[in-house]
Amino acid sequence: MTVELISVGTEILLGNIINTNAAWLAGQCAALGLSCYYQSTVGDNAARLCETLKTALGRSDAVILSGGLGPTTDDLTKETAADVMGMPLVEDPRSLERIEAYFRIRGLEMTENNKKQALVPAGAVVLDNDNGTAPGLILEKGEKRVILLPGPPNELIPMFQEQVRPYLQRLEPGILYSRTVKICGIGESKAAFLVQDLIDSQTNPTIAPYAKTGEVHLRVTARAQNEKEAKSLVKPVVKELERRFGQDIYTTKEEISLEQAVVDLLLEKKMTVCTIESCTGGMLAARLINVPGVSETFRAGFVTYSNKAKRKVAGVKKKTLQKYGAVSAQTAAEMACGAARAAHADVTVSVTGIAGPDGGSREKPVGLVYIGCCVAGRTAVQEYRFVGNRGKIRESAVSAALTLVRRCILEAES
Ligand code: ATP
Repeated sequence: MTVELISVGTEILLGNIINTNAAWLAGQCAALGLSCYYQSTVGDNAARLCETLKTALGRSDAVILSGGLGPTTDDLTKETAADVMGMPLVEDPRSLERIEAYFRIRGLEMTENNKKQALVPAGAVVLDNDNGTAPGLILEKGEKRVILLPGPPNELIPMFQEQVRPYLQRLEPGILYSRTVKICGIGESKAAFLVQDLIDSQTNPTIAPYAKTGEVHLRVTARAQNEKEAKSLVKPVVKELERRFGQDIYTTKEEISLEQAVVDLLLEKKMTVCTIESCTGGMLAARLINVPGVSETFRAGFVTYSNKAKRKVAGVKKKTLQKYGAVSAQTAAEMACGAARAAHADVTVSVTGIAGPDGGSREKPVGLVYIGCCVAGRTAVQEYRFVGNRGKIRESAVSAALTLVRRCILEAES
């Protein structure tokens, strides 16, 4: 079943409000396994709304409209939809009662135009609005459906969850089940290349790659009659991905982040960790410290931005800084070893690089970053050339540092 979204409101077109309803509804439809190929936004104009709705009905099975159900004259979604569906408006006594009660309970005077909200297209399914006055509506004609929802998110969201979702589920029975395989240390294009044959031949389950900074997530989704059946469809695909990506997969659990996976690994190995950062200025430590329970493993985080600090805190040699520079493999290695001594940590990660926009040269361009990792006295240094602005380079460096620590711990073990 295909579904299409139409957001109604001139204030959306003018940029006065952000169209959060469309984003939320799109997510809900995707979770229900409904294919949504189009979204439109149209102002409070009957002719343009009529045209947009007719177009939508010509290519989709169901159209969900949000906004324009209020009592004022520029709220014309219901009138337009009723017209397009050929359903005359009639008064709905139950809705009128609910609207009257809404005003009575709040001690507010009900104006005549509020009665307009109790008019519904003949034969429509009326959706109660527990958080406002405008009821929602479902208009059915043959195989086509038009669903009207109020604009305010605090009215739209509960109405969708409680009344529209079960309705759509009845139309498209079955469930969707997903697992996410999270990969680090491999670029998006390489990851996509490694699963292209699976993507090309996919039907159910499907595999969708998502690129994150320094990570690629592969989402495996199956549609089935029940969860057990869906799980049994997803399982062999996840197994196959595990076979192809091996240790580069840091988790197959939705809720686990890369930093959580690193902290879990440190806790499992009973290892302590320490960070020493230059261009990332504490971002690596902050990401690790975001993980609850990290206090069991995190010893210290140093930000040694200047050469002086690198020398003083980590004992980086003056000669090293002079000969190779602050952004060099040698400095990254000495930072890691020095911090390991200073913090008495089993694992130390160092980051030094050029985040830009200034400070780059031909030999050492903006984006050049060295990350060192010292595990039980053995130090590995990796060179990276990141692209993007200052923020992006720093973020990429943090993800790469987490990936390197994970790899070094796993390699130290083997
Ligand atoms: P009301 O009965 O409150 O008039 P309505 O269905 O007529 O509801 P609108 O008048 O179109 O809705 O919008 C009312 C408010 O709802 C807007 O001012 C805005 O705050 C919010 N809203 C409307 N559409 C959206 C949207 N697409 N995304 C987020 N918020 C929205």
